[in-house]
Amino acid sequence: MVETAPRAEEYDVIVAGGGPAGSTVAALVARQGYRVLLVERSAKFGFKVGESLMPATYWTFERLGVLDKMKASRFVNKQSVQFFSGRGKGTAPFYFTEFDRHESSHTWQVVRREFDQMLLDNAAEHGVEVCRGVNMVEVLFDGDPQEGGSVRGVLIAGASGARREIGCRVMVDATGQKTTLADRFGIKREEPNLRNASIYTHYRGAHRDAGIDEGATVILHTQSERSWFWYIPLPDDTVSVGVVGPIDYLVRDREGDAEAIFGEEMAICPAVAERVAGARQVMPVRAARDFSYRATRVAGNGWALVGDAFGFLDPIYSTGVFLALKSAEMAADSIGASLAVGDFSAASLGRHGERFIAGMEAMRRLIYAYYDPEFSFGRFLKAYPHLRKDLIHMLVGNIYREPVDEFLAVLGREVALPESGGGELVQEWV
Ligand SMILES: Cc1cc2nc3c(=O)[nH]c(=O)nc-3n(C[C@H](O)[C@H](O)[C@H](O)COP(=O)(O)OP(=O)(O)OC[C@H]3O[C@@H](n4cnc5c(N)ncnc54)[C@H](O)[C@@H]3O)c2cc1C
Repeated sequence: MVETAPRAEEYDVIVAGGGPAGSTVAALVARQGYRVLLVERSAKFGFKVGESLMPATYWTFERLGVLDKMKASRFVNKQSVQFFSGRGKGTAPFYFTEFDRHESSHTWQVVRREFDQMLLDNAAEHGVEVCRGVNMVEVLFDGDPQEGGSVRGVLIAGASGARREIGCRVMVDATGQKTTLADRFGIKREEPNLRNASIYTHYRGAHRDAGIDEGATVILHTQSERSWFWYIPLPDDTVSVGVVGPIDYLVRDREGDAEAIFGEEMAICPAVAERVAGARQVMPVRAARDFSYRATRVAGNGWALVGDAFGFLDPIYSTGVFLALKSAEMAADSIGASLAVGDFSAASLGRHGERFIAGMEAMRRLIYAYYDPEFSFGRFLKAYPHLRKDLIHMLVGNIYREPVDEFLAVLGREVALPESGGGELVQEWV
């Protein structure tokens, strides 16, 4: 059941943010028998970007018990991703089923408003008290959090603006790119080399490939090779089309509004222009910063960060929702183990940090390869054909299930990679 105000004054866990990360961690902790409150500031979800999933989300869906709902949904079946160079040369599609025909190698292109609502409903079905239209204003601590003080609760505000303190033993920040706690503690580190922006919209009636390629994500470099387009088929004969490039190139050094810039970029990407020729644009263009960043810690005393509230990677491989679900799943295990013994230290709540970051780091390395003008996946696979399987594992998101060390080691010899994406992971305040 969805409420507009908490029923109690005290919970085991309070989750701020009802996106995929928040709903997942809340559901998985509540299922362990704990009292969980989730506050989501929007009364209703509106449009949200982030529509293409990675196949490895399957395992979290299975754990959440939502696989049947995903299968019964109207979301589009996605079986591959294909890349085109600025000269219009395409790789063969990378079919996720090439090395594993299990149904987990298929995934979905989703309408986020419906997808996020489904996960939030699922949290409520697992016993989470969900409050909509409720803003988490501040996290409250007993003592100075940087001197060992721990969370005692949160200050929330309902639609009327009335404020109220609610107590908890653990607070989870799932506020997405608001990065509420990472900003408060100054622990967010941006990647200086991945300061990108994107401009995107939806079309109806645009080209769709046939057969198993109908739901494929297509990534196309523009002729300048300074930017790239995503092309993501959605339900209702709709396609999501967006351009991504360095913020200086795409936004700051440009005249004209976002609509004009989008048109200019389309003009230097004929393959996309041809695909949308004759289609109807059904949404004004929107623009977003998509800087990559991550915090230096996944948890502190009495708090944990999940999803974008911890970190975000460039959207090139559609890692966002997958990493949000995975971090939430791992955090739920750490929180459950911490609640079981009453240990709410940073070390206990953040015990999954190293493992989670290792996977994120692997994807970050693949992102740098894409942006390296000297690198080509075609040439790479010609030189190392046996690594194709590992590459597909990575595109599937199998980074926590399959070893990809050899792939990363070889990639590391071919592509210059900045060593760390967010400074060292810290478990204790220093
Ligand atoms: C341009 C672009 C393209 C992308 N494309 C993809 C893609 O194709 N595939 C993919 O997987 N990912 C993609 N992503 C990333 C993806 O959208 C995010 O990684 C994902 O939504 C993260 O989920 P989350 O739950 O952490 O955060 P969010 O989905 O942002 O959810 C956070 C929630 O917290 C709520 N909230 C915020 N502050 C408060 C507060 N104070 N109190 C209460 N509630 C609050 C918000 O209303 C929101 O519902 C893209 C991102 C960008 C920028």
